[in-house]
Amino acid sequence: MNGSGKLKGKKALIVAVANERSIAWGIAQALHREGCELAFTYLGEALERRVRPLAESVGAKVIAPCDVRDESQVEALFHAVGDAYGSLDFLVHSIAYAERSDLEGSFVATSKNGFLTALEVSAYSLVSLTRKALPLMEKAGGGSIVTLSYYGAEKVVPNYNVMGVAKAALECCVRYLAWELGPKNIRVNAISAGPVRTLAAAGIRGFKTMMQTVQERAPLKRNVTLDEISDTGLFLLSPSGGGITGETLYVDSGYNILGM
Ligand code: NAD
Repeated sequence: MNGSGKLKGKKALIVAVANERSIAWGIAQALHREGCELAFTYLGEALERRVRPLAESVGAKVIAPCDVRDESQVEALFHAVGDAYGSLDFLVHSIAYAERSDLEGSFVATSKNGFLTALEVSAYSLVSLTRKALPLMEKAGGGSIVTLSYYGAEKVVPNYNVMGVAKAALECCVRYLAWELGPKNIRVNAISAGPVRTLAAAGIRGFKTMMQTVQERAPLKRNVTLDEISDTGLFLLSPSGGGITGETLYVDSGYNILGM
């Protein structure tokens, strides 16, 4: 721990790390540097093998399976967090999923199941996890929640398709949750991150082109780093971001300001 320890005694739930490239893992490391205690989830046994050693390396007391579509797993997760930590200060929601065929084909061909799956896993899960986190955050006297979005929520990005619709819903959920939970001293924000190479990114056709376009056209003429996204996550979660809620903050080398 080389940080200032300003989050000593705080507790965070990180949903979900897949491997050491995950944005969730970057944010978790930034929180750990500041002394925060962490709980982790993983999706399925194959990913457990990647996540467990990472979580253990930062002393996590909870390393639990969590498929957000499975109510019983979500229930068990929050019981485990309550038992281990008693309260919760921070929730990192870093989840997205859409059927591969819906990220390649024609948008008009999106199936009803594909649409519902993308929206359920990538957007509704913020609402359901926040609802479960509420009692634990109230015990802490408030809390802060951060989720991850992308520019395809707002503008058309080829191949992003149904995920763009899910991210638009996600950003809107952030605003409604922020409005409703503000009086409980709970803040809710999104980071709209520029492209970074992760497992989820590997599922998006033309991802290399997305990265090249940012490098050529964004004001900073480069892509963002995982550390830059993670530091913004830390900022929004911690008291440094205390006056900010309901916001979608761009960490994208300035790409979103372009008009053409
Ligand atoms: P990642 O693959 O490391 O993380 C995605 C996580 O979602 C994985 O841990 C996966 O297990 C989890 N997940 C998928 N379906 C789930 C389910 N049903 N239940 C529980 N967990 C589930 O990739 P990442 O790029 O770090 O993605 C994290 C977030 O960042 C996503 O919301 C993604 O859309 C967003 N984001 C990524 C980029 C990028 O370029 N990588 C850019 C902007 C936003």
